[in-house]
Amino acid sequence: MKEREKKSRQSRTESKVMSTKFTVLSLLLITLVIAGCQRPAGEGTFRDSIHKNPPYAVETRQISAGKSVEQRDINYTVHGSGGEVTLIIAGIHGNEKAGIAIANKLDSVLAERPYKALGRTIVILPVANPDGYAKNSRFNARNIDINRNFATFNRIDNNNNGHRGLSEPESIALAKIIYDYNPSKIISLHSSLACIDYDGPAEAIAKRISSQCSLPVAKLGSRPGSLGTYAGFEKAVPMITVEFTPDDETLGTDRLWEKYEKAIFAGIYYEYIQIETQKEKDATDSTDDTGLWESDIRSDDGVGQYH
Ligand SMILES: [Zn+2]
Repeated sequence: MKEREKKSRQSRTESKVMSTKFTVLSLLLITLVIAGCQRPAGEGTFRDSIHKNPPYAVETRQISAGKSVEQRDINYTVHGSGGEVTLIIAGIHGNEKAGIAIANKLDSVLAERPYKALGRTIVILPVANPDGYAKNSRFNARNIDINRNFATFNRIDNNNNGHRGLSEPESIALAKIIYDYNPSKIISLHSSLACIDYDGPAEAIAKRISSQCSLPVAKLGSRPGSLGTYAGFEKAVPMITVEFTPDDETLGTDRLWEKYEKAIFAGIYYEYIQIETQKEKDATDSTDDTGLWESDIRSDDGVGQYH
């Protein structure tokens, strides 16, 4: 009798110990799982942080993409989060001031009225070539045209374009922004060919922007080593090049904004990009077996009519 009681007591104690062990192990496991899901502090990327925000906390941030040849900052701003990403670039050619004024104005308008970026991300690089801007020059400090310096299949290596693709810190900064944000579309602001050009699947967006201002759509062709060839033709990102008029270069910011505000927002808010992009791709695929937009590619250097 005593023996049986002893055994039963022993069994109860063992089961208590087992149960405690189980609880401790479970807690340990849960702690490990939670810890495994969390990144160590400081490891999160900026992309993570913008996507974590609640929809009404529209964030604006200024970020450095690098430094120019003469060590000037190449800064861009990000407005909003999530949704389609529109990248707006100005000042690849430092002497084309109208685009720089408009990009800076857009930046301040979005900072004052952040609701305009709700549900989308707008990345603005107002001065892509700060050394050229400081000297009122098309080129960077080493006399290279940043818009001919991309590592495209049709690039021409020389003193004007650089002796290899991405030889300049300014073009690397631009390529880095495109890599980091994977934009749904790119709008690049230039002067003074007075038209709206496009590369890649962007005809419909170009037409929409054109409908909101006086600039007609005109296909100028993808220049060797240009951003249009790199992003529009090779990466199939809809790429729109807005060429302001010679007269626009003489106007103040307020007048420029009055003329082009609607057109710029028409580009940013273009809603049917994926459908239209697919339609354009399908149309091109069925008519041209040699590759997308092959007929757009120019082998000349664009001297005399460049953008
Ligand atoms: Zn230009």
